[in-house]
Amino acid sequence: MTSIEQHKGQETAFGVNAKGYYGKFGGAYIPEMLYPNVEELQQNYLQIISQPDFQEEFQDLLKNYVGRPTPLYFANRLSEKYKTNIYLKREDLCHTGAHKVNNTIGQILLAKRLGKHKIVAETGAGQHGVATATVCALMGLECIVYMGEIDIQRQAPNVARMKMLGAEVRPASSGSKTLKDATNEALRHWINNPVDTHYIIGSVVGPHPYPDMVARFQSVISEEIRSQLFEKTGKENPDYVIACVGGGSNAAGAFYHFLDEPDVKLIAAEAGGHGIHSGMSAATTFLGKPGVLHGSKSILMQTEDGQVVEPHSISAGLDYPGIGPLHAHLWDSGRAKFYAITDDESIEAGFELTKLEGIIPAIESAHALSVLKYLNAGANETVVVNLSGRGDKDLATYMKYL
Ligand SMILES: *Cc1c(COP(=O)(O)O)cnc(C)c1O
Repeated sequence: MTSIEQHKGQETAFGVNAKGYYGKFGGAYIPEMLYPNVEELQQNYLQIISQPDFQEEFQDLLKNYVGRPTPLYFANRLSEKYKTNIYLKREDLCHTGAHKVNNTIGQILLAKRLGKHKIVAETGAGQHGVATATVCALMGLECIVYMGEIDIQRQAPNVARMKMLGAEVRPASSGSKTLKDATNEALRHWINNPVDTHYIIGSVVGPHPYPDMVARFQSVISEEIRSQLFEKTGKENPDYVIACVGGGSNAAGAFYHFLDEPDVKLIAAEAGGHGIHSGMSAATTFLGKPGVLHGSKSILMQTEDGQVVEPHSISAGLDYPGIGPLHAHLWDSGRAKFYAITDDESIEAGFELTKLEGIIPAIESAHALSVLKYLNAGANETVVVNLSGRGDKDLATYMKYL
């Protein structure tokens, strides 16, 4: 049975219902002009992704193109330091250097089956843009990526990658000129090009069915964790799974097969920035309230009169004022515990992993590692940290702290 067939959603407390809700959160809050696009997806996604020929092509690319399964690595020296048993799920070893490609491969295969031959995407740090441009090159599809003007300046190497991969990078020059503005412009582009274009969203955000669809594509992470952990320890379930949450796709993938296993504690690390009370933070569950952003109801950082508050994080991948509706529900129900990790703490954890294990993590992933010091996990317990990406892209930032 594939991961997609195992977890039909409605039957479980943490799956999406037929209307796209996780508890109070989710749904599809979209302008009328987007109805046809979104409805086409809602009506077709489950059927398409459960077809044997889809699964065969998806699994083949995950194996031979992305390099899956990624290792579940027992981090010996890190475990000694924290007096527990720590395993790292090595998503940093995926082709393109992070988990995002799992989703873009799934979505491009879906787009092809829907007869779409153009792709539009938004990107913040450029990681999702690169993952999207990569699969468009792989499949020979036209690719347009919207990116905030400020992000284009901050993330020059990823802009160069996208261009080399054949994508057109379009600057988003409205608002704060960052991720949320790029998302608005990508949505607008999709409204104007409904027939031939598929919009590849990069996280478990957006109108239903995106959060569920992206979670299913990323669920390969926890599917592998289970079987790899069983192989190594004789037990499928760890005591803790820790992942960072920007929009929440790597966390959704790492949590997915453990959602209904109450003995597995789910831990989410948000970007605390300079501290949650500093005015420079992206810790959504600490600072946010229910609201609608980018097509779904969730928790988001907003002013009294509902204006979205500009977030701050040292890691571009976590610099988002909301979280996906699944995570809002996990937070609201108490199923997952959330930590706000500051910029400085994440840098410290990044250097620590590098020194102890010879692995330079993405600063996003370093937020997840930072939780280890708060966990007090026991000597007999097992902790899995999802290492969502590699740190090459962050070297300049790390160097400022050397
Ligand atoms: C984009 C990114 C994230 C944040 O996105 P999620 O959807 O929350 O997973 C985390 N880590 C890395 C390495 C990323 O590139």
